[in-house]
Amino acid sequence: MALLIRQGHIITNDAAGMVLERGDVLVIGDRIAAVGPDLSARAAEHPGIEVIEARDRLVFPGFIDAHMHSNEGFEMGRYDNLPLEIWLSEVYPPFGAANLSWRDWYLRAMLVGIVSVRSGVTALQDDVINLAFTPDAVDATASAYRDLGLKGWITASMWDESFLNGLPFLADLVPADLKARLDAFPVPGHRDQIELFQHLRATWHDKDGMRIILGPCGPQRCSTALLEEVAGLSADLDLPIHCHVLETKTQAVTGQRKYNRTLPQFLADVGCMTHRLTMNHAIWLTEGDIELLGGVGGSITHNPLANLKLGSGVAPIRKLKNAGANIALGCDGVASADTADMFSAFKAASLLHKIGTHDYREWVSAHEVMHMATHGAARSSLMQDKVGSIEAGKQADIVLLDRYHWGFIPLHDPIQQIAFSADQEAVRTSIIGGRVVMRERKLALIDEEAIRMEISEAAERFRREDCPRMSAGAAEVRPYLDQMHTMATGSTVEAGHIPLRMPPVDGRRFGAE
Ligand SMILES: [Zn+2]
Repeated sequence: MALLIRQGHIITNDAAGMVLERGDVLVIGDRIAAVGPDLSARAAEHPGIEVIEARDRLVFPGFIDAHMHSNEGFEMGRYDNLPLEIWLSEVYPPFGAANLSWRDWYLRAMLVGIVSVRSGVTALQDDVINLAFTPDAVDATASAYRDLGLKGWITASMWDESFLNGLPFLADLVPADLKARLDAFPVPGHRDQIELFQHLRATWHDKDGMRIILGPCGPQRCSTALLEEVAGLSADLDLPIHCHVLETKTQAVTGQRKYNRTLPQFLADVGCMTHRLTMNHAIWLTEGDIELLGGVGGSITHNPLANLKLGSGVAPIRKLKNAGANIALGCDGVASADTADMFSAFKAASLLHKIGTHDYREWVSAHEVMHMATHGAARSSLMQDKVGSIEAGKQADIVLLDRYHWGFIPLHDPIQQIAFSADQEAVRTSIIGGRVVMRERKLALIDEEAIRMEISEAAERFRREDCPRMSAGAAEVRPYLDQMHTMATGSTVEAGHIPLRMPPVDGRRFGAE
């Protein structure tokens, strides 16, 4: 299989930031063989090579969405004005969880995968949350991405602590009968969780573009034994760990009350704090937590859409970068981000960090966000040597954008225009692992209209039959979660960064008194 992308405007995204205003990319098999001004002679050595004319295309490396939960696929726009812990009880209710077939898991992942591909995503880190802990969820998700042609870096979310043990104050607030019912909810022990991971790894890892990585849901929801096993597997198999850490103030309070230390300190104590760790969100960090993660060269996923929607706060991106941490961009699940459109996440991340300080030199730029959506996201899954740029030897994950999309006229700075003025309609063609997965916005490997109708029917059944049961289950715990939320957010912690009032800029730098 050989492919020549001919005479495009190539943004290589390599370390030197090389741009070819007219150039070719030669793809042999699943790899980029060469990038140069004119590769037609080399291409002629490959009879039957497919030529994609790119004269009016911007040629970019594919984006990597570093944090997603495709299992929320039928819940876009279902919630508003809820903080994480209360929102979680609606999406993942302790009683009345949805009844899902293998095909439902497949269709939800397909929906999220399609939106992802259409917005230029070529690899997706998908943390699949499955309250039933069956192999079906990840198996169906991986099958959907394989059929679509999208790369999936997938975790089966793990936790073995009870609902009440993962939240502060709550165990003392719920009445005895409700406490008994919550504690009776079956959660597999850490051995079963590791067994499920091993089973999924044997079935899918390094097959059809899939990777199976480690995903303890959050430190406060996992036993020490489970986290120690995860740390050991990560070291032995050189696998990334993706874990939700300090998304909310309530989680910062949880760390103090449950472990008498911060959650990153706890992760360090159980052996998880290494360069293979990615903390999802990482908002309510102390200065010490930032030093800890930066010191080991760990990563965070930055998910501004979900953080804004759930009122969680703003991740201290500049401080983390200064400390040596790697930043990856994600959408987060579509029940909180409400979309898998990477352009939306790109835009939010490029805008959000203009608040918090008047010192504009500290703001986060669109070019930094480009790094988060490519190299940073690849690095958080330990794939930085394989994807993220258009360079010989890297995997051929390439997207072609319409150079004459309204948002690119005139062409000032393509990366800034992705952030601020263009939208996902600009993405015309997507090549993943050397294979054309979308051609002129038509998905090449699936029948999009047929799958749209099937997804629509399954999603409508979910809305009609499952959603009322889920809401009823959530309503049982809502009064106690409300009290818990008030108590936790009313507590004092030393974590958190962006104050509501910006401090005055330090004028002494310019000789002011
Ligand atoms: Zn998440």
